Amino acid sequence: MNKNQAAKHHQELCRLLNYHSHRYYVLDQPEISDAEYDRLFRELLEIEKAVPELISLDSPSQRVGGEPLGRFEPVRHSEPMLSLDNVFSEQEIADFDKRVKRALKTEEEIDYFCELKLDGVAVELVFRDRVLAVGSTRGDGITGEKITENLRTIHQIPLTLPESAPGLLEVRGEVYMDIQDFRAMNEERENNGEPVFANPRNAAAGSLRQLDPKVTAARPLRIFCYGIGLANEPETATHQQRLENLQQWGLRVNLDNNRRVTGAEEVIDFYREILEKRDSLPYEIDGVVIKLNNLAQQQEMGATSRAPRWATAWKFPPRQTETVVEDVRLQVGRTGAITPVASLRPVKLSGVMVSNASLHNWDEIKRLGLKIRDTVIIERAGDVIPHVVKVLKEKRTGKEQDVSFPKFCPVCGNPVARLEGEVVPRCQGLDCPAQLRESLKHFASRTAMDIDGLGERYIDQLLKLNLVTSVADLFRLTKEDLFSFERMGEKLADNLLAAIAASKHRSLDRFIFALGIRHVGAHLAKVLANYFGSLQAMEKASRDKLVAIHEIGDQVADSVVRFFESPHNRKILKQLEEAGVVPEPAETVKGSTLAGKTFVFTGALTRFTRQEAEKMVEEQGGKAASSVSQKTDYVVAGEAAGSKYQKAVDLGVTILSEDEFFRLLENRGEHL
Ligand code: NAD
Repeated sequence: MNKNQAAKHHQELCRLLNYHSHRYYVLDQPEISDAEYDRLFRELLEIEKAVPELISLDSPSQRVGGEPLGRFEPVRHSEPMLSLDNVFSEQEIADFDKRVKRALKTEEEIDYFCELKLDGVAVELVFRDRVLAVGSTRGDGITGEKITENLRTIHQIPLTLPESAPGLLEVRGEVYMDIQDFRAMNEERENNGEPVFANPRNAAAGSLRQLDPKVTAARPLRIFCYGIGLANEPETATHQQRLENLQQWGLRVNLDNNRRVTGAEEVIDFYREILEKRDSLPYEIDGVVIKLNNLAQQQEMGATSRAPRWATAWKFPPRQTETVVEDVRLQVGRTGAITPVASLRPVKLSGVMVSNASLHNWDEIKRLGLKIRDTVIIERAGDVIPHVVKVLKEKRTGKEQDVSFPKFCPVCGNPVARLEGEVVPRCQGLDCPAQLRESLKHFASRTAMDIDGLGERYIDQLLKLNLVTSVADLFRLTKEDLFSFERMGEKLADNLLAAIAASKHRSLDRFIFALGIRHVGAHLAKVLANYFGSLQAMEKASRDKLVAIHEIGDQVADSVVRFFESPHNRKILKQLEEAGVVPEPAETVKGSTLAGKTFVFTGALTRFTRQEAEKMVEEQGGKAASSVSQKTDYVVAGEAAGSKYQKAVDLGVTILSEDEFFRLLENRGEHL
């Protein structure tokens, strides 16, 4: 390649990398896999090595991450939050080790601290006077986004530190989501017709950068801390000691999996061990991070504008492979949502034989440009079922067929409709057996009516034998009915009937959730149960009344009203009642002084954490907000209350001490 060609290629790579960085960091919607991104990035580094004059200040090789997303207040980090350089092989880690030895002018084996590289979102937590004062994203490394209120909702982040902690402590860590939690959340989103997240990293990033902290609070986020920025730290010689200190001060550190090693050979052992363990970990990791353990040596090595020289990430090979899409099948969910699934020519992927890949929805098929019989790259990232990341269009033979958008339900043949604003088409058939099967599964599930033993196997038999046409029929089953099942004995039948009977008096929120009203997940079912106290009260509620409830928006209100308007649903509710299914009423909160009132908490509370206090307010029908405005009814000021206190004074909002707030809670019906 001559210089001219190199310059052109360099420019194109910069454009591509900037485009994908923006989609990844700013929009949380990557279009290509990390491995593909890394490949492009390496290509850029190689060109820049060969033709150094191409390195411009704005080259992706000189910068960290993505620019902050204007929606949040900017926060300047006291110390830049850098990225990490990458290595991909044993040879490259040996070269890294040589570079370190050369720079430190030593022949001795180096002490390294090896850590798991969690695939989440980097954040900084600033504790001032041992109180969490500011939390932010990494942003472009210099300036991040202020997401303090969102980070406060993560229970693993302490809001205050013990006396032993330093007065100023800026902690860095990775916010992430466990794979199991991620799957459950995506399942619920899919059921609700909401777009699913591509992987746990995107889910964590999307959850953290919400304007409403309540959305973040409802997401299962976790954190591991792995470093510090500015701090008046006690005398500390090693990175390991630093992490142990963090743990002592109540911060969550992954000391169980991370360890100190000596020399490159032991680094390689660690890498191999973790690669082996990767599939059994509860969270996604994309490699390991190797850091110099000695802090004085770290200082000596220093950093470039993008990454420290005293550390490197050793990335795992991508869990990707090539195969052919033999067909695209349609799956019908509980709410009639029809989702496409690719049937694959079976192929081994990181030790597991796979024959299906998720396609998420029709927009995804369009985006990929996928046809049946296409050769594709599939990837596993945080999910058991892999997804198609790319179509290899150059491998087409001309025999490929377009995937057509369904007009009729593949199970019951009823027409399919795509409602406005939704990405999924839905079967409109009320008697669709596929929907009934999913409704029964949902109704009996652990978080709903919790009918022990009533799983997929029995549900399929009930349907095959035509024993149920709705969830209400479950309560009419007799022992004789069950005896017609394959391999059903006396004891099993008794147990199943007892489990069904035991579910007759579940709490109201479980019952509401079990009904499978669209957009009403477990959390909103609780909100509705607490507000109405009984199904009868909820049934009668108008759309306006529903929208007035905190957390209930237009979409949910419409869905609730539509559910109760349906004669089919009313019939089933009546049958359930006649069969003796009467949920335990919930204690209503309408009479509470807190109902409808907006609270803002500021400063450090001593009796409860802020999340607990906010939860109590919500349980009594109030609303917890993050900023003070004319609409705020009460500001509860704890110790070291800051600007919100001042704003409350300026606006004349009633200010409560923690004790006063507690009395208000205890007295429920009475006013202060
Ligand atoms: P990085 O992910 O390679 O490494 C730095 C980050 O690692 C830190 O900011 C921190 O968040 C994280 N980390 C996890 N565990 C850590 C630990 N124990 N110690 C220190 N840090 C730890 O770098 P990056 O700059 O965040 O992102 C670059 C990577 O993001 C690329 O390699 C690529 O895989 C991915 N990316 C993908 C796309 C895409 O379109 N798919 C686009 C841009 C970036």
